[in-house]
Amino acid sequence: MSLEDLYREVILDHYRNPRNRTPLDHPDSSAEGVNPLCGDEVTVELSFDDGTVRAVSVRGQGCSISQSSASMMGHAIKGKTTAEIEELVERFKTMMLSENGVVLDPDHPGATIGELEALAGVRKYPVRIKCANLPWTTLEEALANRPKPEIAR
Ligand code: ZN
Repeated sequence: MSLEDLYREVILDHYRNPRNRTPLDHPDSSAEGVNPLCGDEVTVELSFDDGTVRAVSVRGQGCSISQSSASMMGHAIKGKTTAEIEELVERFKTMMLSENGVVLDPDHPGATIGELEALAGVRKYPVRIKCANLPWTTLEEALANRPKPEIAR
């Protein structure tokens, strides 16, 4: 199986069996994103516990790229701190902008972005980059909406 076929399998698996779709009862923050070019919609809900995402709901409708990207994202951010998630968002965006493939950090050999690399092939189709990025820009909005720690008096 070629790498391209493998990536296609990963994308289709997340599209057909999206993870973390159950709405949260009391999310700490949420955001909704729309990509009018393609008709994609994504809702992101987050629950925090001491700066860590304890529960996530990502759901929506639209093309396979937007919805599989949403499913992979929810899977990837669960249990991570907001700082780790912000770094992951940067890595994902860098990957989608880069000319030749995934940017791996030689100083951190384990620091790949895992199955999210499957979406790198989308860069060949500039219209679809917006689809792949939609859940991530929505996530950034949800992060910006999160309750800030109370300032000690
Ligand atoms: Zn789309």
